[in-house]
Formats: sequence, structure tokens, C-alpha cells
Amino acid sequence: MNTIKKTPQRTCVICRTVGSKRGLLRVVRTPEGHVQVDPSGRLSGRGAYLCREGRCLNMALKDNKIEHILKVKISPEDRESLKTAIGEYIKEQAVV
Ligand SMILES: [Zn+2]
Repeated sequence: MNTIKKTPQRTCVICRTVGSKRGLLRVVRTPEGHVQVDPSGRLSGRGAYLCREGRCLNMALKDNKIEHILKVKISPEDRESLKTAIGEYIKEQAVV
């Protein structure tokens, strides 16, 4: 058995790339039914991980993929703030 891992591994829900928790962006469905990005990884709720590739982040928003993954209907308001948050996240990544 070789199950010892130092960092928890997470899988990008779009491209299935496996990475460390810190290498992926968490999107969470809060208990209130909102969907938001969770850069700290500390919010409670059902989470999905996306790798930092802008392609995967954009794809999650397209075709309501993230809705299917999190099994939630995202309100137009939440969708807009999600888009903004992810857009800013992508910009930040591009700078680093
Ligand atoms: Zn990915």
C-alpha cells in the first residue's frame, strides 16, 4: 500500500488534471445555494476544483458545466460575480 500523501490531491473537473489543492481553484456551492470561487479553500459547501488554466475556468462557465457539476442552478447575479471573480483570477495568474 502506498497511500501516503503529503499534499491532498485534487482533480480538475474539466480536464481531469490532478494537482495539489493549492494548484487548483476551488469553486464552492454554499449551503445557501450560491456558487462562488473560494481561493482560500476554506468555505463550507460542495466544492469543485478547476486548474489554473484559463481554458478550464472559462469552460466551467460555458455551457453551464459548473451547474451540472455542482448540481445547482446558478442565479444570473451569481453567474455574473462568478464570471468577474474568475476573470480577475485569470488576470492575476497571467501577471505571476
Ligand atoms: Zn483543467
